[in-house]
Amino acid sequence: MSVRVRFAPSPTGYLHVGGARTALYNWLHARGKGGTFILRIEDTDVARSTEESLAAILDSMNWLGLTWDEGPGVEGPHAPYFQSQRGHLYQEHADALIESGHAYRCYCLPEEIEARRVQMAERGEAPRYDGKCRGLDDAARRAFEAERPHAIRFALDPEGETAWDDVVRDRIAFRNDVLDDFVIVRSDGWPTYNFACVVDDHLMEISDVIRGDDHISNTPRQLLLYAALGWTPPRFAHVPMILGADGTRLSKRHGATSAAQYREAGYLPEALDNFLALLGWSFDGKTELFTLDELRERFRLERVGGNPSVFNTEKLDWVNAQHLKRLDEADRIARVREFLNARGHDLSMRDPEWIATLVRAIGDRLKTLADVERHGAFVLDPSFEFDEAAWAELREKLQAAEHLEALAARFEVLAEFAIVDLERETRALAAERGLKAGELIGMARIALTGRKVSPGIFEVVWLLGRKAAVQRLRDAAARWRMDAPRAGV
Ligand code: GLU
Repeated sequence: MSVRVRFAPSPTGYLHVGGARTALYNWLHARGKGGTFILRIEDTDVARSTEESLAAILDSMNWLGLTWDEGPGVEGPHAPYFQSQRGHLYQEHADALIESGHAYRCYCLPEEIEARRVQMAERGEAPRYDGKCRGLDDAARRAFEAERPHAIRFALDPEGETAWDDVVRDRIAFRNDVLDDFVIVRSDGWPTYNFACVVDDHLMEISDVIRGDDHISNTPRQLLLYAALGWTPPRFAHVPMILGADGTRLSKRHGATSAAQYREAGYLPEALDNFLALLGWSFDGKTELFTLDELRERFRLERVGGNPSVFNTEKLDWVNAQHLKRLDEADRIARVREFLNARGHDLSMRDPEWIATLVRAIGDRLKTLADVERHGAFVLDPSFEFDEAAWAELREKLQAAEHLEALAARFEVLAEFAIVDLERETRALAAERGLKAGELIGMARIALTGRKVSPGIFEVVWLLGRKAAVQRLRDAAARWRMDAPRAGV
């Protein structure tokens, strides 16, 4: 049987990193086995489903490289791929279940069900649907039919148990008497998740259902539906949840939880894929860095472990830095450009050599793409300010204003404004003024970047350009004359 898997998000929010990992595992399993990856949109909760959320999910999946073979925008043999457009299929199969005696119409009103649940709880019984409408005779049913909407419930056989061999968890069994006659079609006509999921997984010929282990308690209901419909169920693989650093389920409290937030924070998609793959899966217990192609070749669903994994941001940072380092330079520069564009920097006037120089100057300090903004603030951030400690250091330097003005004058008249020329002139000036090159460079660095630490100073000058560099040196000199302890010296 060919491998067909699906990722089935509900478009009621962004793509959570847990969802992204589920999508990734499905994608890897399909790609590794020459199978088909289907994207199905579970949008039967019409009130909560939104176009924005759908767009955000598709966008994050595309960004992560998780392309689908059937689904929105890619028609396939089992279209439509939106549950909201498949109502007739659910209706047809619900009717078949009623016909075969595996389901029945329920006319109970929510408040009636609730009142009976409360009574059950008072009697010390587990609250559940009591099966009232299961035994209605024809006359009673006709009377209700005329005046009330109905839901459709599954007619559960409480005898025995429902079990399956989970690919991740091994054998899981539930006693049927812990379940009840659950609703498969609500009184508004929409199918419930469990029912729509089974109908679609069957009709879409899904071979393996890979999803979060928060769905384990749904699986027995789904298996009972497969049996009642006379269908062979798929294999199930329930992947463990992702925990935050404190050991509780990863949530917004822990910080960024959506794939899009990691994109905005400057992480590479291949790094996030790599990191997410390792939350629950390992190749050999030691290799940590994989490209998406390598993951596709090596991933085995059978090697996914059942224990929850901790989302360790430091590890993600490390993985990201390694991926950034491995990019060839042209690619790294292209990613930086794209990131800066997305952040609203106007680079249209910058020639390619400028961005390349910026990226080279930042070098290995680039752990995320956002580090470009951090280390390149001297030229990317229009609001220039001195770091307090840096200014305090400059104001202590003897004759700083004169030195900086002299440097400005040199730069102003330099014939060739290339990095080598800037370096030569700066060193020559330091020697003329009886300074060590490092002393003059240290003063220039603070004047030009406002900080004590920066990328290579000659690159900094070149990136700022002659006009801005000269201006900053003069501004710093003027400020020093106002502020320095021995002003005027
Ligand atoms: N729409 C469900 C969810 O987002 C799908 C669960 C499943 O994969 O069966 O949790």
